Amino acid sequence: MQYFVIGAGIWGSVIAERIASQMNEKVLVVERRPHIGGNCHSSIDEKSGVECHRYGSHIFHTSLPEVWKYINQFTSFTNYHHTVLTKHAGRVYSLPINLHTINDFYGKSLSPDEAKAFIAQEIAKEGLGSEPKNLEEQAISRIGRPLYEAFIRDYTRKQWEREPTELPAAIMKRLPVRFSYNTDYFSDTWQGIPRDGYAQLFKKLLDHPNITVQTNTAYEDIRDTIPSDALVCYTGLPDALFGYSLGELTWRSLRFEWETHDVQDFQGTTVMNYADSDVAFTRIHEFKHYHPERAKVYASKATVICKEYPKTWQRGDEAYYPVNDERNTALYEAYTKLAAKNPNVILGGRLGAYRYWDMDKAIENALHVFETKIKR
Ligand SMILES: Cc1cc2nc3c(=O)[nH]c(=O)nc-3n(C[C@H](O)[C@H](O)[C@H](O)COP(=O)(O)OP(=O)(O)OC[C@H]3O[C@@H](n4cnc5c(N)ncnc54)[C@H](O)[C@@H]3O)c2cc1C
Repeated sequence: MQYFVIGAGIWGSVIAERIASQMNEKVLVVERRPHIGGNCHSSIDEKSGVECHRYGSHIFHTSLPEVWKYINQFTSFTNYHHTVLTKHAGRVYSLPINLHTINDFYGKSLSPDEAKAFIAQEIAKEGLGSEPKNLEEQAISRIGRPLYEAFIRDYTRKQWEREPTELPAAIMKRLPVRFSYNTDYFSDTWQGIPRDGYAQLFKKLLDHPNITVQTNTAYEDIRDTIPSDALVCYTGLPDALFGYSLGELTWRSLRFEWETHDVQDFQGTTVMNYADSDVAFTRIHEFKHYHPERAKVYASKATVICKEYPKTWQRGDEAYYPVNDERNTALYEAYTKLAAKNPNVILGGRLGAYRYWDMDKAIENALHVFETKIKR
């Protein structure tokens, strides 16, 4: 058996590492981009020395012991803890919605129990039924209308280019609301940034004599050279694998606009959201704040920021977020049935699974697929 991995993102890299180290088999990883790491890729900005996450901020966070143990073989992590701020109507608030946000927004100093009772009253004013019918109702049933209109409504419109009343309630199911001053964005057991950066983490993951990596190479370039009995672990678009024969899956895309500024600190934090509709981007990332421990770069009078704009996806654009509605779910299932006809192809990664996965979920899935479908 020969082994081919299509895509050097975290899912493909973990699969390749397992095949190489646990089965002592050779594996070829092909990646159409000029770099490894997939969407977790980072590189150093030459002028400022700042390490930038090239496809948007990536914070590693997990509560899965097996994933934490696995990834720590290849990197240690800083003790960075993620927090997010948001601008609305010329003021800055803390996210996810917590006691700071509620008290700042309403100009009050409520205790946790008082805030719970107050928000419950706001929710009751709307007289919603027990089953929210769409995202708007779901959000209002968690935080009331004023907070929804300030922090969720316009941001959601920008992100999805759809009215929140047209979006499924499920997208907001886990809208976190805290009646405490805990401003941590994630509540996982472990979180941090790879101490030497994501680029080094991927270099280490794929640094094995059994692994050959070919960047700037698409699956389509090598497809005809792959022996029919080889195992192909494919992390690209499922519909592209089958020539879009059943139709095209829908995605959301993003556009990143990069700027370098000759100041020590542009916005005082890693991520600032922009909740209002008069600003076209959804957030600004300032990457030097991910590594305050890199003292010289941190203190220097140069910083890199990146504005993130949501974008309608068209074939050829980077596919970032799946649109898991009824049509796409049915179409994806039809493609998985086609894929199942060929036991030598495994559809994997977040593209192949047509799922949004955080990095830890992608690793968990890759480890599981390796154990159950690949390891002899
Ligand atoms: C904006 C944004 C921010 C995120 N932030 C976080 C975060 O803070 N924390 C977190 O845990 N997760 C975050 N994620 C999720 C994280 O990016 C994913 O979990 C991770 O990238 C999944 O890895 P993957 O290998 O499945 O896919 P990818 O990283 O997309 O890798 C797939 C690779 O396959 C390549 N490929 C595709 N088709 C072909 C082909 N035909 N031939 C050759 N190569 C091909 C692609 O070029 C790509 O490099 C974020 C995602 C986004 C979109």
